[in-house]
Amino acid sequence: MYRIAIISYHTSPLASLGGAETGGLNVYVRELASELAERGHTVDVFTRRTDVDSPDTLPISEAGSGSPLARVVQITAGPPQYEEKGSLPAYVDAFADGVATFVAEEGVSYDIIHSHYWLSGLAGEKLKARWGVPHIVMFHTLGEVKARSRVSEREPEPRIAAETAISRNADRIVVASKDEQQLLVRYYGADAGHISVVPCGVNLGLFQPIDKEEARKQLGLREDDRILLFVGRIEPLKGVDILLGAAAQVESESDCFVLIVGGDESTREGEMAHLRDLASQLGIAERVTFMGAVDHERLPLFYNAADVCVVPSFYESFGLVALEAMACGTPVVASRVGGLSVAIRDSETGYLIPWRCPEPFAERLELLLGNEELRRQFGLAARKEVERFRWSNVAEAVLGLYAEVIDGAPAMSQAVFRN
Ligand code: UDP
Repeated sequence: MYRIAIISYHTSPLASLGGAETGGLNVYVRELASELAERGHTVDVFTRRTDVDSPDTLPISEAGSGSPLARVVQITAGPPQYEEKGSLPAYVDAFADGVATFVAEEGVSYDIIHSHYWLSGLAGEKLKARWGVPHIVMFHTLGEVKARSRVSEREPEPRIAAETAISRNADRIVVASKDEQQLLVRYYGADAGHISVVPCGVNLGLFQPIDKEEARKQLGLREDDRILLFVGRIEPLKGVDILLGAAAQVESESDCFVLIVGGDESTREGEMAHLRDLASQLGIAERVTFMGAVDHERLPLFYNAADVCVVPSFYESFGLVALEAMACGTPVVASRVGGLSVAIRDSETGYLIPWRCPEPFAERLELLLGNEELRRQFGLAARKEVERFRWSNVAEAVLGLYAEVIDGAPAMSQAVFRN
């Protein structure tokens, strides 16, 4: 059994989702930590404290049948409140020191450090030097790729320099798709043999097909409307503007509505206001509803109520939303980027669009919205397809990597994802 220190410095796996900075990474860390703990491994997830009231340690998964608990450990580093991402690099050293102090006081040790995002990677490197244990990093997004994906995106130079250094020093880099592996090699000069591909997962128990009529009834939506759904953080890289442009072009026999799930106070002024203006300019304001963030546990209702889920991202290292929609039996129309081209089989479970503009999206949406039988077939195939992406498969693959790095075990194939 391993003792695992997961570093999730800038955001907690227990944070509520759908805000500007809470999404796939939080879900990934929470699900992985729970799966590892269920297998009897000890998992501590270290995160920066953002309030003064909550306890130092919080359970992620409760101990059942004697299995150890996965827990979040909150470390004070910088002001104990939400801080803009831009100010977070300044507290990384204090954070790493805080983790080391906590661990020394508890008198525990770890077999491996697994960090998420570049800021955690910096802390992970410091702790690796201190503890002399291997360090695995998963970046989730890469600064250089973000900057190249959409003209408006700019990432600070220190981020890219840090990602380059961490890529060289870490014992292994985990990426969610081959695409991301190639990007790391191309833009960061990383060694391809040093990178392991492990796809992301989906909670197949939570995300399941249910009766569409019933889902719509519960959400107060009309039975006959055509509904396009977007779920995610509201930021330019997610391409919501492309979805709005496409929705304005779709000709369907009944009205086509767009539900946008995600966004909080911090996005309301900026990107959200921009999208509202755009919807007005396109003349579809009355057909677009901004729902704000929705509890993860309530999202299955939205995926089931929708006719199509649209993921028009400019950059997506994997795209959990696509997996979740597919698990609910809802076809996905998505950009052909990153893990989306792994999750979706073009023309079988959805459509992959190589261009970042509304017209090709509108064309595919029209095809699907006008053909109920096609939607049904894609939906059935989608559910079947995502069954191999269950979180237990992700955990098994990650454990295989731990064994390689800690014990020198032979490289494990990704066979777990074929069933
Ligand atoms: N999410 C949520 N409520 C919201 C918006 C998003 O629970 O209001 C969750 C969504 O279910 C998914 C995650 O946030 O699990 C977003 O992950 P994805 O990989 O699609 O995007 P990322 O945040 O990594 O860019």
